[in-house]
Amino acid sequence: MVSAKQGASRTARRPLVSGNWKMHHDHIEALHAVRDLGLRLKREEAALVDVSVHPPFTDLRTVQVLLEGEGIPVMLGAQHCHTEDAGAFTGEVSPRMLARLGVRFVIVGHSERRRLFGMTDEVVAATLVAVLRHQLTPICCVGESAEERDAGRTEARLEAQLRGALAGLSPEQLGSLVLAYEPIWAIGTGRAATPVDAQDAAGFLRGIVGEIGGAEAARSVRIQYGGSVTAENAAELLAEPDIDGLLVGGASLQAASFHDIIRAVVACYRSDAA
Ligand code: PEP
Repeated sequence: MVSAKQGASRTARRPLVSGNWKMHHDHIEALHAVRDLGLRLKREEAALVDVSVHPPFTDLRTVQVLLEGEGIPVMLGAQHCHTEDAGAFTGEVSPRMLARLGVRFVIVGHSERRRLFGMTDEVVAATLVAVLRHQLTPICCVGESAEERDAGRTEARLEAQLRGALAGLSPEQLGSLVLAYEPIWAIGTGRAATPVDAQDAAGFLRGIVGEIGGAEAARSVRIQYGGSVTAENAAELLAEPDIDGLLVGGASLQAASFHDIIRAVVACYRSDAA
């Protein structure tokens, strides 16, 4: 049983728990899921932990109206966007459109976008700039494959992805980011990274942010872990000093399991404050 979030009071980084719904839930199902989450999530919990949900584009307006109309303390997120604000880009959605919908967070460079849709480090970098241009917060995903891990190339891969993505950002912008360490082999497999491995990676990423943007940026940047997070492993991951939140896929689709994860995170921070 993990009792405290070591370092939380030292760093004052607010935890962020984000639900990436991927291509699940139409807008009616989204309505039910968010309403259910709103009934479970207590004000005291939301006071301690930032929570975001990232539905498919077709659900965003419905979820926005629900969150605002009922005052549900959950922030709206998107899963991806284009680099331009408007133009002849059939099938794409712009960061400006997301900002107009009240979106606060945008996942950028998820491994599924990189692997299935050819998103390169250069496009990830341009998307971060575009998202920041609209005062949205990017959740920039990095992570190694199973082959890279087995070959002992985890750090080299993370460093290449991170330096590629962050090129051109100011220290202030770096400090405002959310990074998500998502080992590809852990996503949707039921095999989460151990807390020690997740901490090693998160600490390594924070060190690189420090090298690029200085100590203040490194202190401020929030780092999530993602990959088969459940209510059972959430607390031990969050207890690690460089892990400030969780990016949750499958377990975020049902309000009950997502809320159980949020509760586990709240318990870590509450016992630290005690
Ligand atoms: C994800 O989609 O980013 C993810 C971490 O998925 P899961 O929690 O299902 O592994």
